[in-house]
Amino acid sequence: MTSNRLRRGVEDRGLVRCRAVAELRAQVAGWRSRGLTTGYVPTMGALHEGHMALVHSALEQCDRCIVSIFVNPLQFDRASDLKSYPRDPAQDERRLRKSGADLLFEPDSEEMYPDGFSTGVMVAGVSEGLCGAYRPGHFGGVATVVCKLLLQALPDFAYFGEKDYQQLLVVRRMVRDLDLPVSIRSVATVREGDGLALSSRNRALSPRQRATAPALYRVLSRVAGALAEGREEAAPWLAWGRQELDAAGFDKIDYLELRAAEDLKPLARADRPARVLAAAWLGTTRLIDNLPVPMQSRES
Ligand code: AMP
Repeated sequence: MTSNRLRRGVEDRGLVRCRAVAELRAQVAGWRSRGLTTGYVPTMGALHEGHMALVHSALEQCDRCIVSIFVNPLQFDRASDLKSYPRDPAQDERRLRKSGADLLFEPDSEEMYPDGFSTGVMVAGVSEGLCGAYRPGHFGGVATVVCKLLLQALPDFAYFGEKDYQQLLVVRRMVRDLDLPVSIRSVATVREGDGLALSSRNRALSPRQRATAPALYRVLSRVAGALAEGREEAAPWLAWGRQELDAAGFDKIDYLELRAAEDLKPLARADRPARVLAAAWLGTTRLIDNLPVPMQSRES
């Protein structure tokens, strides 16, 4: 403990755990009164290296790092998905202690949604289409919980992964529209060696499904590469990609689309900064991923 404290040159290091909003506020107020900056990483737990990349960014860029773990019932469109969502509190705590994170906020549902809770945040535009079309209510649930989490702690920075690209844009839009005094920072997707994006949901894959899963990244890479610099029409490549996913063994493809990186508007070709985004099912596990379309300026 002492060495940790000495390393950061401050006297209250070590992971503090709290479940009540009032305790969280008191902690952050104490830091703020000493001029320390705060970075916040909201998660649903079952932490992996993708989450930890967000934590490491916050630790590097801020004086203090808060991580929340809350499996938010509002953002699940299927009760069975909420029930089976992976939980691993002992491992989460070990990882966070080792990382040097300062505060773990673990509210229960009553703390977040007291009896009679009846307010929701709805972000139009970027919430529509893609996952929004297949998971009714999902982004309303995300926006509502993130809005609450940010208002509770009022951190200087909050960190979100590009892995959930539509979610990142929903959060950015909400923060801008509601004048929340927090800067949103994004972190690149962390992948396995074979390209599969790390996700808590990967734990549910059978060995066979796990072997199929990296096809999602391979297809996104091929399509993003083919559409680089707006050279080609997207439609034939997206049709090709769906066939490839199907042939690889995906059970259902929700979408494979080219969208503008800034606002997720549909694009016929990547003639401005763009991303290719996909969601597909292996059995009862739904995987999502996305990649930017390379845009380096063409040499004359
Ligand atoms: P979750 O616990 O799934 O709600 O994710 C919490 C945060 O971690 C979100 O901002 C995610 O986008 C981010 N995240 C999840 N997986 C990854 C990954 N493989 N790489 C980078 N960030 C991730």
